[in-house]
Amino acid sequence: MFLGGGGAKRVVCSGCGGQVQGGMEYVTLRDGAVCFHPQCFRCALCHGVIPANTAFTTDPKESTTSGRYYHTSCFHQIHSPECCVCHEKMLPNASGVIEYAVTPFWNQKFCRSHQRDGTRKCFACNRLESRAEPHVVLAESSSPGARAQPRGFTASSSALCLNCAESVVLTAEDVSHLYREMREFFVKLGVSLPLDLPVHLVDPGALNERRQRCDTPDDDNGYHGAPHIHCMGLTLSEERTTVVRRAGGLGFGGSTEVVSKTSDVTAVLVLRGLPRLLFCSVLAHECGHAHFKLQGFHKMALKTEEGLCQLLAYLWLRQEGHCRAEGERERERLYHMNKIFEDSSEVYGAGFRAAFEAHERYGISRVLGHASLCGELPE
Ligand SMILES: [Zn+2]
Ligand SMILES: [Zn+2]
Ligand SMILES: [Zn+2]
Ligand SMILES: [Zn+2]
Ligand SMILES: [Zn+2]
Repeated sequence: MFLGGGGAKRVVCSGCGGQVQGGMEYVTLRDGAVCFHPQCFRCALCHGVIPANTAFTTDPKESTTSGRYYHTSCFHQIHSPECCVCHEKMLPNASGVIEYAVTPFWNQKFCRSHQRDGTRKCFACNRLESRAEPHVVLAESSSPGARAQPRGFTASSSALCLNCAESVVLTAEDVSHLYREMREFFVKLGVSLPLDLPVHLVDPGALNERRQRCDTPDDDNGYHGAPHIHCMGLTLSEERTTVVRRAGGLGFGGSTEVVSKTSDVTAVLVLRGLPRLLFCSVLAHECGHAHFKLQGFHKMALKTEEGLCQLLAYLWLRQEGHCRAEGERERERLYHMNKIFEDSSEVYGAGFRAAFEAHERYGISRVLGHASLCGELPE
């Protein structure tokens, strides 16, 4: 933009439509194709005059003939992305570049500074906490009446976004209801689970303690974000060996013989305070372990067994799409499915993808049947 003396040519102001007469100062743009009186060259947003020799902006998305011009700062107030944490506009730096970070899957845009300022993520879905809509923290207690508490109620790091907190599973009644539904899902896959499988909700501390005692591999403790689905549940079992004592002759030593080895599932533990979709996918995973244990099959490779259990969690989430998920719940469901699919761990991620491939080829009942019989996926 520059100001200049008017030429002899008859020129019309693109602002007011009045004539720009010779000898007047005026603003000319696009090699003289567009002219304004200086007081008519205004920001399309705030309608303030854009002073001579200051930067202005046109919207690259608008057609070049629309004639809309903006103060650069006004333009960025409208068009720059807003930070999902502090809700400030993220403005370009000195070189005109807008720098920000994005959460995977959810595409939340945020100022890079929040990566280091202690901004919390949702324990279940990994979404960042907005200052306008704080996450809730569950009181860490096994008391059945415990409910979601406002932020700051405890020092626990298990913060849930409001969306996830809406469907949180906290009571034994919730659990028995959801387990009944889970049994029906397994029946459809050709697997019958016991009516009275002991499913319990536990706090993170208790789960970790049991997990350490069970020596289950745990390749991500979830400290920096949402833990993996497989850190949220645990199936405990006891191997039962039936021994028969064969008596020798009267007063003589007999011999003992192992007749059978079976497993009792003593408890299925699932983290308390998970949103329903995540709870059910963890439950499906653990019910897979319970099924394999109850079948008395002990020699399955870890990767095969965990992969199959992840497959069950995935299939549960997938069928859920056919019944009731919608809106935010639907995005949450896709998030959890995606997380299983993209898991980078060898045991759970690669294990799942191998099981999924076998399932695509042979169907679930054949895959489970084959695994129970031979301890492997069908080739
Ligand atoms: Zn004018
Ligand atoms: Zn303006
Ligand atoms: Zn911010
Ligand atoms: Zn969440
Ligand atoms: Zn597992």
